[in-house]
Amino acid sequence: RKLIYTFNEGRSENKDLLGGKGANLAEMTHLGLPVPQGFTITTECCMNYLDDAAFFEEQLKVEVLKAIQNLESETGKSFTSEENILLVSVRSGAAFSMPGMMDTILNLGLNDLRVQAFAKLTNVNFAFDCYRRLLQMFGDVVYGIHKEQFNVLLHQTESRLNKKVTDFNEAEHLDVIELYKNLFLKNKVAFPQDPMEQLFEATKAVFKSWNNQRAKVYRDLHHIPHHLGTAVNVQSMVFGNSGEESGTGVVFTRNPSVGENKLFGEFLINAQGEDVVAGIRTPEPIETLQAILPEAYNDFIKYSHKLEQHYKDMQDIEFTIENGKLYILQTRNGKRTAKATLKIALDLAAEGLISKKEAIMRVSPEVIDQLIHPVFDTKKLTTAEAFAAGLPASPGAATGSIVFTAEKAKEYTALGKKVILVRQETSPEDIEGMVVSEAIVTSRGGMTSHAAVVARGMGTCCVTGCEALTVNEAAKTVLCGNHTLTEGDTISVDGSTGSLYLGEIPTIVPENDQSLQQLLTWADECAELKVRANAETLQDLQTAIDFGATGIGLARTEHMFFGEERVLEMRRLILAKDEQEVQFALNKLLSFQQEDFYQMLKTVQDKPMVIRLLDPPMHEFLPHDTNEIKSLAEQLNRYPSAVEKQIEKLQETNPMLGHRGCRLGITEPRIYQMQVKAIFNSAIQLAKEGLTVCPEIMVPLISEKEELDYIKNFLTETIAATFKEHQIEPFPYEIGTMIELPRACIIADQLAENADFFSFGTNDLTQMTFGFSRDDIGKFINIYKEKQIMQQDPFQVLDQSGVGELIKLAVSKARQTKENMMIGICGEVGGNPDSIAFFQQIGIDYVSCSPYRIPAARLAVAQAVL
Ligand code: ADP
Ligand code: MG
Ligand code: MG
Repeated sequence: RKLIYTFNEGRSENKDLLGGKGANLAEMTHLGLPVPQGFTITTECCMNYLDDAAFFEEQLKVEVLKAIQNLESETGKSFTSEENILLVSVRSGAAFSMPGMMDTILNLGLNDLRVQAFAKLTNVNFAFDCYRRLLQMFGDVVYGIHKEQFNVLLHQTESRLNKKVTDFNEAEHLDVIELYKNLFLKNKVAFPQDPMEQLFEATKAVFKSWNNQRAKVYRDLHHIPHHLGTAVNVQSMVFGNSGEESGTGVVFTRNPSVGENKLFGEFLINAQGEDVVAGIRTPEPIETLQAILPEAYNDFIKYSHKLEQHYKDMQDIEFTIENGKLYILQTRNGKRTAKATLKIALDLAAEGLISKKEAIMRVSPEVIDQLIHPVFDTKKLTTAEAFAAGLPASPGAATGSIVFTAEKAKEYTALGKKVILVRQETSPEDIEGMVVSEAIVTSRGGMTSHAAVVARGMGTCCVTGCEALTVNEAAKTVLCGNHTLTEGDTISVDGSTGSLYLGEIPTIVPENDQSLQQLLTWADECAELKVRANAETLQDLQTAIDFGATGIGLARTEHMFFGEERVLEMRRLILAKDEQEVQFALNKLLSFQQEDFYQMLKTVQDKPMVIRLLDPPMHEFLPHDTNEIKSLAEQLNRYPSAVEKQIEKLQETNPMLGHRGCRLGITEPRIYQMQVKAIFNSAIQLAKEGLTVCPEIMVPLISEKEELDYIKNFLTETIAATFKEHQIEPFPYEIGTMIELPRACIIADQLAENADFFSFGTNDLTQMTFGFSRDDIGKFINIYKEKQIMQQDPFQVLDQSGVGELIKLAVSKARQTKENMMIGICGEVGGNPDSIAFFQQIGIDYVSCSPYRIPAARLAVAQAVL
């Protein structure tokens, strides 16, 4: 294998071998841009050297020698003699950009003798400026002597002589060089005088830097594999520090923070390399270069345009001007904010540089999330103090005062304060407090715990499973390590990363409605999978429709049984001692629900809506606190001890596997009957008002065909009776089932015989397949990830090889029975981009997710096709 490529030999597609920087230097050379000549030592050499240091001596050294000789003849200069001096830079560059990870050495090749010759050729000041920089960078990169130590020596000399380094005479420059060299000796090393020796040592140091701690951590953080290695670019120097007609700068071809199509960048006259970013002198905006060096400026405009056209993306360009002549030293696709990502993608498409499809692929679904939720100001985040982290349950960023109960949340917000609700876990009773909170934090629970699901539904920032917190709701304290926080203390919560910070951090909400609409409209045109919403409150239903949901994939009916008045009737029903009481409660619930369904159906109009019949276990509706039981007994006119006994009897050891879902429908059909009656009373009412709706009724937790048959039987009877009662011609409706148990997947062909549609409840299906409780996974999932037992939380990203296989099997079995059966996904993973690609592959019809995840899901379903 070839170990070294000249810039004339490579191309931009060789990034793996030449690194990003090297591949682009070669590409620019190929395009005819003014790039100083040079060569790239491949990433493979790096890995070979790290495997076995002898590789360098035995194989690489001769090749480097040959490459230098070649460079000498191409440039007509010499790297070793004292005439016609060639100096080079040694620049690291991996396939993925790892900013600031591995440093560059400039002016390599100078030594005590050559600096004299170089000074004669140019001038003393300039030559020693270069030599000093070399000593400093070499000391830092190769021997780990901190840069600042050199600066201290320089500043000491400046104050001793009482003049600036630019006014030093030769003897004074030599003094500083002597000090620098002594610093090397203090560190028990010597600065090598032989240019080749310098090059070898620098190359090895760059190779080794691949494995330094910073680099490893960075790669872990960004999921970059450790086996790639870095390339080393050796490039002949051009000098931005050679006078007033020279300089160096960094420019983005478009504004990286807002995306505007206008150059954005800075430069410094008479400066080298890192001076621009180092902040020693304040750089000037790029536009002013036009007046100072018009020719170089015009060339830059020409080349930056050419590069953008060629790479078809915004470029981040580094350049240097030597005596009025422009050189391009680096280009890459520029990093940018979410807002700029969207604008640039749309603009490039409008300019005809990329297609609509490419524009869709340029924006990642996470970017969309950032565009509809507030985010912390990244500049402020670097100085913020993070004190804990949990699961990133619902994106967004918020600051507020800690409260521990829903009541306090309401109390504080009534006074105009912003609050963060911090609890061990939340329950349906906390809902009002959750609605008014800026963010919700729980110490227990996973990605599909109550807090997580509700928060995502509302688009509220939420972090769950923050196990490091000890929340004491009674004492109103939360402990974390050596921090104790109490009610009223200010914290900031990042729902996109799961981090919690002390104090306030400013947020920004990028506004980009128009552009976002545009992109999502294009996405809808390409997509095959439809996107529905999981929503049931009127507000959520409306939000879902506003975000472009094509229908509702899951409207849960549990909420219709909560609230003071309703839960009392539900409790009356559960604890009823005679038929009369049952009927009384059912009638009350019927009238509540009829109104609910009327409003819900009216909100979604003719869009499809899957309504799931009651699912949770009965005990969730019952009080457990003695005082509450007492007052309930009073309200129901019963003895407290009798009520208590009954409640005890209903207690379940493992409620998730207990008396819930269709099992309730079978043991107590009257609840489901009441629900469909309410649905059809309101649907018929709307039909009379001229709106045609087609209710889709979903029966949860089916594991056996007979269960579905039995329930469907009495549901259709009730529905027929309801039509008759209203004396109206029956209109179409559907009865389908939720597939959320492994057994249901296996017998999907049988279930399909009597089901009009399927919807996979991936939350329960994941829970039941793994046997992981969705509320307790927070206790161990992070340890699983750390120990590499699992890469992902399966409640967040579909487990393709297990749960995914079951779904795939069920889909193919169902379609054997009913070829065109409508099949959807309504669990949390329905909104996850990686999972969506899988659902596209196996022929699902739609995914359904929380309203605030819809925009990102619309993009993801389009990307799944492209
Ligand atoms: P980084 O990856 O940290 O940006 P670079 O390898 O791009 O490091 O080098 C940083 C800067 O050093 C460049 O932007 C450029 O200003 C300067 N530089 C690198 N090589 C040369 C060269 N051959 N001639 C002049 N300046 C150079
Ligand atoms: Mg650079
Ligand atoms: Mg379920």
